[in-house]
Amino acid sequence: MNTLSDPPRIIMHADMDAFYASVEQRDHPELQGKPVAVGGSSARGVVSAASYEARQFGIHSAMPSVEARRKCPDLVFVRGNMALYKKESARLLEIFQDFSPVVERVSLDEAFLDLTGSTRLLGPAEAVGQRLRKKVRDVLSLPVSVGIGPVKMVAKIASAGAKPDGLLEVKPHHVQTFLDPLPISRIWGVGPVARHKLEESNFKTIGDLARAEPASLQGLLGEWGLEIARLARGEDFREVEPYREAISYSEEHTFTNDIFDLKKLEPFIREHAESLGRRLRKSKVKARTIVLKWKSAKRTGPGVRGYPVFTRRVTLSSPTDDGRVITNAATSLLHKNGPVTAVRLLGVGCTGLTDETADQLGLFDAEEKTRRSTLNHTLDQITQKFGNRAIGELSVNNQEKAGLSTQVKRGDD
Ligand SMILES: [Mg+2]
Repeated sequence: MNTLSDPPRIIMHADMDAFYASVEQRDHPELQGKPVAVGGSSARGVVSAASYEARQFGIHSAMPSVEARRKCPDLVFVRGNMALYKKESARLLEIFQDFSPVVERVSLDEAFLDLTGSTRLLGPAEAVGQRLRKKVRDVLSLPVSVGIGPVKMVAKIASAGAKPDGLLEVKPHHVQTFLDPLPISRIWGVGPVARHKLEESNFKTIGDLARAEPASLQGLLGEWGLEIARLARGEDFREVEPYREAISYSEEHTFTNDIFDLKKLEPFIREHAESLGRRLRKSKVKARTIVLKWKSAKRTGPGVRGYPVFTRRVTLSSPTDDGRVITNAATSLLHKNGPVTAVRLLGVGCTGLTDETADQLGLFDAEEKTRRSTLNHTLDQITQKFGNRAIGELSVNNQEKAGLSTQVKRGDD
């Protein structure tokens, strides 16, 4: 099974330059070289994309059209054609998928690609990035910028730095030098509130945060502070989640009393994992990615949303419907990068669902997996007849069980 201590990953973030505006300039040669805004030109209109020529006047997306017009009287407004952009986006996704089987689409014009497994076949990451850029240019006649880094956040910041129409690779040993001078707002999850708190304590750059004592950031922002400290050091545990992972299974429950001892969380993980395994087998699907989620008991804001939520995930080398495999994966996430403060809610989820029956079995795993699958099938039959309590594996007491909630989530496409 793969773990978070695998060799450095190679993540690419590909982001089209001024996507809607570029499509318009491509299809209407008279617009090329001119400042173009896609959006409504009426009194209440808003710019949804600005060409690079328009950006030189300080025009950007989400700006009121009236203001944009004032900044650049020659600005050409184009109404835009969402159906066309969607069609071009689908072609773009196909190109991305030629370069990696693990593509996470973030929006119509932007995606993460995990190249970790592809470079042996395709060559060094930078060359792959340049080939991808050329292919997008050849097929769609549109510019795309590419950022490459060992983690998602760095790849994303790098693609922004590569714009327009460029490529920037940040090698693992350059990550800290790359991040250090950037403003703290470039860290994912640092919104206006956290930024204000951090700036008041004299944290201005990512480097300031990377050098800070994590405990002092924890004092300011609770467990988020530790997360931010990790991100500032370029440690980002988020994996690239393929597009098809929109559908997921998850279970979670809120504890009657907050739990701090990680060992005490293990039986809850096991119970959720076994239950997820049963649901996967019932639906005849397997999951490739296991997610551990928790809510810190330490409030960082008012209301029910005041408790920060954390997730950790790991992608397995082959998909599973076995509760024990899910348990092991989630338990190892718990101990490697799990909660550092008391927990009020814990959940386990599975994504990356697949109905592939052609499981790529490792030679040594094959026999064990067949044995487990026979066992699970038998257990499922017993459960169906007598209920979960018939099986001695479950150790979570009834009072806690009462808080259990299950859900099948369906994400946006
Ligand atoms: Mg873009």
